[in-house]
Amino acid sequence: MIEFKNVAKVYPNGVKGLQNINLTIEDGDFVAIIGLSGAGKSTLLRSINRLVTTTGGEIVINGESITTANKKKLREIRRNIGLISQSFNLVKRSTVQKNVLSGRLGYYSTWKSIFGLFTQADYEKTALALDQVGLSDKLHTRSDELSGGQQQRVLIARALVQQADIILADEPVASLDPVTAEKVMTDLKEINQTLNKTIIVNIHSVPLAKKYASRIIALKSGEVVFDGDAKSLTAAQ
Ligand code: ADP
Ligand code: ADP
Repeated sequence: MIEFKNVAKVYPNGVKGLQNINLTIEDGDFVAIIGLSGAGKSTLLRSINRLVTTTGGEIVINGESITTANKKKLREIRRNIGLISQSFNLVKRSTVQKNVLSGRLGYYSTWKSIFGLFTQADYEKTALALDQVGLSDKLHTRSDELSGGQQQRVLIARALVQQADIILADEPVASLDPVTAEKVMTDLKEINQTLNKTIIVNIHSVPLAKKYASRIIALKSGEVVFDGDAKSLTAAQ
């Protein structure tokens, strides 16, 4: 469970990224954050793994405050949170397998991860995750030889091998054509339903949000202006 308690973010330049955010996101939910550019979607999403440091209130994940967590605790909490983001990219010249395996690094002490000592189980989990996103045949393909949609799916696979219960996806379909966007959303939905992962996506497209998310949160100027399911959003529009 993710709880936002009166959360605010004021950027150093004075811009209010978020204000008065009070939300509870249940385990296994599929939440779409919608809103115009600059509404605060990315700020909200990134505050969940503290890539954005909030300036007011508290965010609590599975009973533990990420706001007051020390470095060690923060790392521990972050291991349970996968991030799919265009700015958290794949290593282009590396294979799909290596990129997905890197999701396992959180489980190793630093020296082990430097030498890349992966176990048989890591390779098996990698193969399974790639199968789950329909990329089994791309194991040894270089990441920069994949299409945009396939790259997003590699990021989903990486979040899966990380064994994170929470997956944050920051505009995962923004740069994709409509057909590929539907495929990526379908993958996320399947992971949500079959593996019971909590999925939170930032998305521009209201139709896609309505089609795939069980809960839609709309932001405007850093504040929640709608929170409900697709049906009630239609009614409110
Ligand atoms: P969205 O994801 O909905 O486009 P953002 O969360 O990126 O919105 O931005 C919310 C507001 O915060 C915008 O006004 C944006 O300009 C501002 N903002 C975002 N990041 C920064 C930053 N690093 N420094 C200053 N202002 C920022
Ligand atoms: P460790 O040092 O134990 O390997 P890290 O702090 O490097 O742990 O990372 C733990 C987890 O935090 C990662 O698996 C990742 O999901 C998340 N994380 C850390 N840094 C970032 C980042 N810049 N962007 C997105 N996620 C990150």
